[in-house]
Amino acid sequence: MAMGRALVKFENLHELKRLCHWGPIIALGVITICSTMAMIDAVLWYWPLETPGGSVNFIMLINWTVMILYNYFNAMFVGPGYVPFGWKPEKSQDCVYLQYCKVCQSYKAPRSHHCRKCNRCVMKMDHHCPWINNCCGYQNHAYFTLFLLLAPLGCIHASFIFVMTMYTQLYNRISFGWSSVRIDMSAAKRDPLPIIPFGLSAFAASLFALGLALGTTIAVGMLFIIQMKVILRNKTSIESWIEEKAKDRIQYYHTGEIFIFPYDMGSKWKNIKQVFTWSGIPKGNGLEWPVKEGCHQYSLTVEQLKQKSDKRLRSVRYQAVEDYSGACCPMTKGVKTFFTTPCTEEPRIALSKGDLILATRGLKHWMYGERILDSTTDGETRVRGWFPRNCVEKCQYDSELDQPCSNCYSDQCTGAERCGDEKGNLMV
Ligand SMILES: [Zn+2]
Ligand SMILES: [Zn+2]
Repeated sequence: MAMGRALVKFENLHELKRLCHWGPIIALGVITICSTMAMIDAVLWYWPLETPGGSVNFIMLINWTVMILYNYFNAMFVGPGYVPFGWKPEKSQDCVYLQYCKVCQSYKAPRSHHCRKCNRCVMKMDHHCPWINNCCGYQNHAYFTLFLLLAPLGCIHASFIFVMTMYTQLYNRISFGWSSVRIDMSAAKRDPLPIIPFGLSAFAASLFALGLALGTTIAVGMLFIIQMKVILRNKTSIESWIEEKAKDRIQYYHTGEIFIFPYDMGSKWKNIKQVFTWSGIPKGNGLEWPVKEGCHQYSLTVEQLKQKSDKRLRSVRYQAVEDYSGACCPMTKGVKTFFTTPCTEEPRIALSKGDLILATRGLKHWMYGERILDSTTDGETRVRGWFPRNCVEKCQYDSELDQPCSNCYSDQCTGAERCGDEKGNLMV
């Protein structure tokens, strides 16, 4: 078993603070309630331990709990793996293909993205998961996915126990009247009598646990299917989005380029083996990746740079015509705005009348963008988030202000000094 790199090491004890967040508290609460109730129901009222079947059932329940918690804590504490501070590619001339992260003071390795919650550049970032209060990425992808598989399986077993307990206990106690249902909870029908009778509170607790277990099965099961798609294609959720935008960009500008996603190894089995290994340690080092024939180590990052400059070109300038407090569901901006608030953990930005915003995407009643700060404020801090569409008005297009550098596609480039010598090098 792959216990080698697993779980909490003593020098990582500060990682325990990850538990202090609503995600892990709720997740561990649900796991505790469902597994404890399943064991109590099984032992007391449905399948006594004295019977061989009952013992096997009980051991299986313990097994689910242990395996679920093992993968859950590994996903949380092993973490996704971060790009080392100050990292740069081996050959310095390769730097032009990569974006630079000012926060981590390092180049963004292929497939890595900066997570604002973790405040680090995360290797092969898929998404930041509030339930493990950590990112899902290179190192913990397998643990995370196994957790998503085992949790619904355990919940299905527990649901079966809850339903059977309630059924066997309520059978013969229910009598149907002309317009009423009577449940006689005083009579225990089983032989021998259980030490603790199955009362109304036990019934309520079992029903509650059943609700939790069924909800978890559906919700987590869907997440498992999504993650399996990610693994089978070796394409993270973020990369699917980049690919989508690549097709858009190529179509929009009629450039005639063909974008090939470079990390799909061509067969599902090969893609699975990139993530799941017997040692528990995924293949590679999280910084360099095997690519398809005809692709380049930097095929994807170059596309990202192109998109970044394109986003700048296509972003639209808006001006706030109303104040907005930054509330998630604002009461004063209309019913539709209230009910269609974006379901993300991304922030909202407060606006005051006259603020300028560079919007990059939008829904019908909401927009996402970056507040344009005047030059006197510190340029390092960027204020990005959602705001109601009806608080802003489109500005006249001002082409001069939005021009990125057309040589290196980097929006950190101020023009001449960084990319002057590299002219033309980028079009791989
Ligand atoms: Zn970073
Ligand atoms: Zn994160």
